[in-house]
Amino acid sequence: MSQRDNVIKHGSENPFESMKQRFDQAAKIIGLDESDYNVLIAPQKTVIVNIPVTMDDGKVKVFEGFRVVHNANLGPSKGGIRYSMDVHLDEVKALAAWMTWKCAVVGIPYGGGKGGIKCDPKSMSKGELERLTRSYTDMMVDVFGPDKDIPAPDMGTGPQEMAWIMDEYSKLVGRSSPAVVTGKPIVLGGSLGRVEATGRGVMVSTRAALGKLGISPIGATCAVQGFGNVGSISAKLIAQQGLKIVAISDVSGAYYSAEGINVEEAIAYRDSNNGTLEGYKLGKITNAELLELDVTVLVPAAMEDQITEENASRIKAKIIVEGANGPTSASADHILNEKGIMVVPDILANAGGVTVSYFEWVQNRLGYYWTEERVYRRADRVMKTAFEGVYAASLKYNIPMRIAAYAVSIARVAEVEKLRGKFGL
Ligand code: GLU
Repeated sequence: MSQRDNVIKHGSENPFESMKQRFDQAAKIIGLDESDYNVLIAPQKTVIVNIPVTMDDGKVKVFEGFRVVHNANLGPSKGGIRYSMDVHLDEVKALAAWMTWKCAVVGIPYGGGKGGIKCDPKSMSKGELERLTRSYTDMMVDVFGPDKDIPAPDMGTGPQEMAWIMDEYSKLVGRSSPAVVTGKPIVLGGSLGRVEATGRGVMVSTRAALGKLGISPIGATCAVQGFGNVGSISAKLIAQQGLKIVAISDVSGAYYSAEGINVEEAIAYRDSNNGTLEGYKLGKITNAELLELDVTVLVPAAMEDQITEENASRIKAKIIVEGANGPTSASADHILNEKGIMVVPDILANAGGVTVSYFEWVQNRLGYYWTEERVYRRADRVMKTAFEGVYAASLKYNIPMRIAAYAVSIARVAEVEKLRGKFGL
């Protein structure tokens, strides 16, 4: 069974279409002309490879891999690499476009890209994953580069895969190239604070949203869907702010406690239990029920298309902070808006990860490494400034935060395109 079958209870929409529908609304608001529209909507480069890998049993399997550079106006394209059986071209295209808007919304000098390999990393040995990652890097050597396209972790990948990419790329170009990839292990030029960065940004966004609505974190409740890197760290840091985490979940199901969940204990349980919450001691509900809980804050941090036209009318949270990319389908937007729910959109809420990726790249190029305290301070500042900018745009145009975030970022990318002139890669 694929991960998606476990989490999603509803029909899914084409993620690129979802992105385009929001893009269209924002483009109208900022008065984007037709030529700019045509340039900014189309991915600049799409590479599809078939990667042969010798498996442990001696047989050769061929894996489909993708890298999409959506836009490189603001700088080298940036974005993670996803390993999942659900990876397909339209998903990677949408994720790449979201990276363009994400980097622009927080004002870091990157364009957007994304990669993916259709594989099931949980069923592969470490050796198989290493051979797959190295071969993918070999086939993408002309795409990647510290000044061209810089991968990072995403669903199903982490520091180890980044170490292999850094090593393989460095061998191919004949010099040490740590800045070709971010999210590396610390000893290999990774940045302190990178692992926590996305969750930390989700926490900062949650605080900012509560502040705008005049709600105290003390006494507020929160449900978090997804217990990977983003969900578990978001839950931990949000709990530290005084909110009560009443539900968490992963592919094994959702776990509820009205008294509040000890998130650090749940993380320790997951880590000792093969990476899953399966069998956790709390009352079990479904992922669908978690989304509909009567909580102050809902953090969808699992995957795309969790909040859809089908269940949006039953969402009771006052604030949704999108830890995942694309957790709300476009068809659900108007329902959430009519209900008056404040949605802090993915391209803003989860931008803490790529922000610290940028800091990692800067440190690699400087050859000088910052303290964790400096990383946190600077990342928090970037997130708060971006939140205020999007909030101000939402008031100015009287539009939801999501469309405001698109409007701010599309305007930035369009401005740079005008200054540089039209260019292809
Ligand atoms: N995969 C992460 C994201 O979707 C991080 C990307 C990066 O750091 O380049 O934002």
